[in-house]
Amino acid sequence: MHQLENLYRQIIMDHYKNPRHKGLTDDKNYFTHHIKNPSCGDDITIQTRIENQTIKDVRHDGSGCSICCSSASVLASLMIGKDIDHAEKLTLNYLSMIMNRPFDEDLDLDDAMAYQGVKQFPARIKCATIAWKAFENTIKEWSESHE
Ligand code: ZN
Repeated sequence: MHQLENLYRQIIMDHYKNPRHKGLTDDKNYFTHHIKNPSCGDDITIQTRIENQTIKDVRHDGSGCSICCSSASVLASLMIGKDIDHAEKLTLNYLSMIMNRPFDEDLDLDDAMAYQGVKQFPARIKCATIAWKAFENTIKEWSESHE
């Protein structure tokens, strides 16, 4: 178990130090959602391009603690290329995992599994979820415009 925790810590620090898909675009075809976490100073913007029911691109930028910033990078890496229904399932599953609710361990959350220990630290739950909630809001906005 200790080794697994080390591995998870390495994944989080790697995404924090070498964030993937970082930097925003002014392309108007992207959905943009922004969330702040005043308790920790986290401030994250997620941009998503959706085409043909598929997540074509996810961009992120902002500032905050290592858990918050790294989770935006993990989110972007995981979601690009997924179809929107699958992306929504992954998002809800991740949020359940972090909030210590039952979740489907067979759904492949990839590097996002590294955050499952966060549920033991209630003060950090918001840090691990704001990027994902911004992405969830994106999916909601997309769904509402495609009913
Ligand atoms: Zn934070």
